[in-house]
Amino acid sequence: MRILQSRMRVFPSDAGEPQYSLDENDNMTVDANSRPPSPTLGTATVHAGERRFRAHNSLTVPIVQTAVYTFESTAALVNYTEEHMFWEEPEREEYGRYGNPTVRAVEAKIAALEGAEDAILVSSGMAAVTATLLLMLSHGDHLILTDECYYNTLLYCQNFLPRYGIEVTVTPHGDYAALEAAIRPNTRLIFSESPTNPFNHCIDLARLVDIAKPRQIKTVIDTTFATPVNLRALDYGVDLVIHSVTKYLAGHNDVMAGAIVGSYDLTTRLRQAHSMLGYVVDPHAAYLILRGIKTLALRVARQNANGLAVARYLAEQPQIRQVWYPGLACHRDHALATATMRGFGGVVSFEIEGDAARAHCFMDALTIPTIGPSLGGVESMVSPLALMGYANVPPEDRAAMGIRDELVRLCLGIEEADDLIADLKQALESLA
Ligand SMILES: *Cc1c(COP(=O)(O)O)cnc(C)c1O
Repeated sequence: MRILQSRMRVFPSDAGEPQYSLDENDNMTVDANSRPPSPTLGTATVHAGERRFRAHNSLTVPIVQTAVYTFESTAALVNYTEEHMFWEEPEREEYGRYGNPTVRAVEAKIAALEGAEDAILVSSGMAAVTATLLLMLSHGDHLILTDECYYNTLLYCQNFLPRYGIEVTVTPHGDYAALEAAIRPNTRLIFSESPTNPFNHCIDLARLVDIAKPRQIKTVIDTTFATPVNLRALDYGVDLVIHSVTKYLAGHNDVMAGAIVGSYDLTTRLRQAHSMLGYVVDPHAAYLILRGIKTLALRVARQNANGLAVARYLAEQPQIRQVWYPGLACHRDHALATATMRGFGGVVSFEIEGDAARAHCFMDALTIPTIGPSLGGVESMVSPLALMGYANVPPEDRAAMGIRDELVRLCLGIEEADDLIADLKQALESLA
């Protein structure tokens, strides 16, 4: 029932609520005579989460730039408090840390895109990771993390959570036997990423959920690299999805945020704690994210196409030692990605034949991608990972992670594939 309630919240209607029901497979069906069915993703990126008619007849969602909300009378305050007591979604807000209408619109939009009941927008992707783990785990609990994850996530789990009495085991990404063997009676949560940074390894979500669910272990997946356009992890029974909204969702390299997405039960618990932790997003940042998401489906479709074209081109060049892109048949998880993802994403990692100096010359010769640490924006970006992101990792650990000096991570933007390939070609030729 919760899903139905939240769908109604996510798509506020002006002409009465739609008549939803569930078929024998628990899929939502919509009475054809009531309202149109749930919009498909491209339509949802534009409209979901937003009221059809907004304050002052504004077409765009207003930036409600306030930290404080006022009450017209003490009676209005009593009403508000009662709504809270009965767990109804209050019609209004009280204080900026507890909620903001511009932020709420982003949350509802992201929830709709993931097919989720609810989402919480926080101030960065790392805020989403740290808050989720801090709030889902208690002293004495055990966490399993798959390796090949965002490096700060690994550091947080290995160096920070143990200070609070949380035990952590790191298992190899994609090794399901090791994952199962690591489970203990106090294992509460499995955290993984798909596809991974930088090698684009994918998790078999159905298999992961089969291992975790019967044992009442919660699963949390960071699907920043996939976006809901390419993968909706909640459809597989995963409990929570995490995004660095900074990357593809916001998409313009101009704002930082994170999202925690899942069932209303879990997000309600997390939201109460979130208002204590205070990882709030500024309303203006929320507006930029809302505007960014409107073009998510278009951007990711282009980035998928650019990723595939560039990966295919690079795989054929003699100056390239290896390419890691799930759209290539040579990638470890090609079959899994083909079966579960709607696109292979915009991140192509590869090694230049030669040494670090040669890889650096290649990156310096590029004229379209700039050298920088991020991904998912409209501008293509290239990262020498041994110098960036992993620069502070001890060299032996870096080697164990497969981060060699010749490794290049190319994150495609929305430029034309032909231009990007011509640029790569001239940079490779300059090496000769
Ligand atoms: C960037 C990133 C994060 C951290 O997000 P921030 O918004 O930079 O805090 C977490 N996970 C993945 C997979 C990322 O790419």
